[in-house]
Amino acid sequence: CPWGAPNTTSISCSLADVMSEQLAKELQLEEENAAFPEVVAVAEGPFITGENIDTSSDLMLAQMLQMEFDREYDAQLRREEKKINGDSKVSISFENYRKVHPYDSDSSEDEVDWQDTRHDPYRADKPTTTPRRGFIGKGKDITTKHDEVVCGRKNTARMENFAPEFQVGDGIGMDLKLSNQVFNALKQHAYSEERRSARLHEKKEHSTAEKAVDPKTRLLLYKMVNAGMLETITGCISTGKESVVFHAYGGKSATEDKVIPPECAIKVFKTTLNEFKNRDKYIKDDYRFKDRFSKLNPRKIIRMWAEKEMHNLTRMQNAGIPCPQVVILKKHVLVMSFIGQDQVPAPKLKDVTLSSEDMKKAYYQILNMMQQLYKECNLVHADLSEYNMLWHDGKVWLIDVSQSVEPTHPHGLEFLFRDCKNVSQFFQKGGVAEALNERELFNAVSGLNITADNEVDFQAEIEALEKMNEDHVQNHGKKLSMFSSDGDPPIYDE
Ligand code: ADP
Ligand code: MN
Repeated sequence: CPWGAPNTTSISCSLADVMSEQLAKELQLEEENAAFPEVVAVAEGPFITGENIDTSSDLMLAQMLQMEFDREYDAQLRREEKKINGDSKVSISFENYRKVHPYDSDSSEDEVDWQDTRHDPYRADKPTTTPRRGFIGKGKDITTKHDEVVCGRKNTARMENFAPEFQVGDGIGMDLKLSNQVFNALKQHAYSEERRSARLHEKKEHSTAEKAVDPKTRLLLYKMVNAGMLETITGCISTGKESVVFHAYGGKSATEDKVIPPECAIKVFKTTLNEFKNRDKYIKDDYRFKDRFSKLNPRKIIRMWAEKEMHNLTRMQNAGIPCPQVVILKKHVLVMSFIGQDQVPAPKLKDVTLSSEDMKKAYYQILNMMQQLYKECNLVHADLSEYNMLWHDGKVWLIDVSQSVEPTHPHGLEFLFRDCKNVSQFFQKGGVAEALNERELFNAVSGLNITADNEVDFQAEIEALEKMNEDHVQNHGKKLSMFSSDGDPPIYDE
């Protein structure tokens, strides 16, 4: 035979072998599961009592212990410092040997803070892609899409698409090249991990409110307590779809000029991403955040919600509108003053029964606040209703402003009209005879003069105004500073 003898040494692979391999895998899995059972049962409460600390995360526990240790170490250092110095006029400072530094200056943070969300230093350059024709270069230097190096890099880059909880390390930064085989195995693993954690997560979601806070958030909260900024976190006030709100007693401030209120509310924006998707429209078109939005990953977008709430609250505070006062923002956790007393939050307007006199007073106050919000803060609340107004100290307080936008937001006026509808309806039903209808209220707040006498036409005019503004942006590259319906040209910023 010109082709030589046929090679008969084919790899033998009997059914029995395959079966036993599978069996071995199953046995191993079983063994692993027995050795490392999934920790589902989580201890009660985060650290409210200080005893029932969540032990589900070793890392967190270690970090907590380290912080505890550092504190003790510092206390000891201070005692020694005192002993050495005594009443002497010249003193030695051990400051540089301290371990715990004021909360605000913890530069050793492994993660970026909100201030840094503008830049994303962790984003490595993506490898170049191969064009459709399947190769790049000429002659000898040609590289096809099957090139091992290119392929390997691409696989590494693709790891970024795995679920955010899946730790993939800094493969891109290291110029790691993954073979297809390894990549596929990883992908399969990531997929099953994702499903497993989804199951775990479901279980957690059904348990108590405290557990809705993930270990990282707990660590963040724990740090605030440990730094003395908060005295104690007493419990959960509210669990919403997008946030969990806790009550805490304020502690001491690191700086003299800033006073921490005696009672604080901690709003934790949930890092489970699903609910945030349908809120995109509020932030995506908000030009203040426009440049940043496209470049950010979901986790950072959630931080941006917290940041937005902080900015909006500050604007309101400056205008003298009754609202929570911002204490500090750390990542997706916003600490503000507590509206209420002795751990009891002020009731929502929907839950409180007011005398007709108070009801009327509340109405005029809200009319006033809506005007101030629009004119002085250049904001539309965008979720204004009896659910987001608290009754405290004989007046109405506005809360929940993470979704608030500027009036010139592409849908700003529509949001305002919706707010007006809620407010009008609530007070008309509540028996306030003086309450304007939603169209009158809209004009009173915005200063516009839309004359349509029915809702459909009114809405159409609002949308026409919004469109005019958008066209203006298209043509002039900038926004109107405010809307004006009495004659052209509209007023805009220089
Ligand atoms: P959500 O987006 O979940 O509606 P909110 O900001 O409206 O978030 O907060 C949810 C609830 O938590 C509010 O209805 C209110 O009862 C309570 N709450 C929030 N902030 C404060 C605060 N500063 N003081 C007292 N209670 C607060
Ligand atoms: Mn709310």
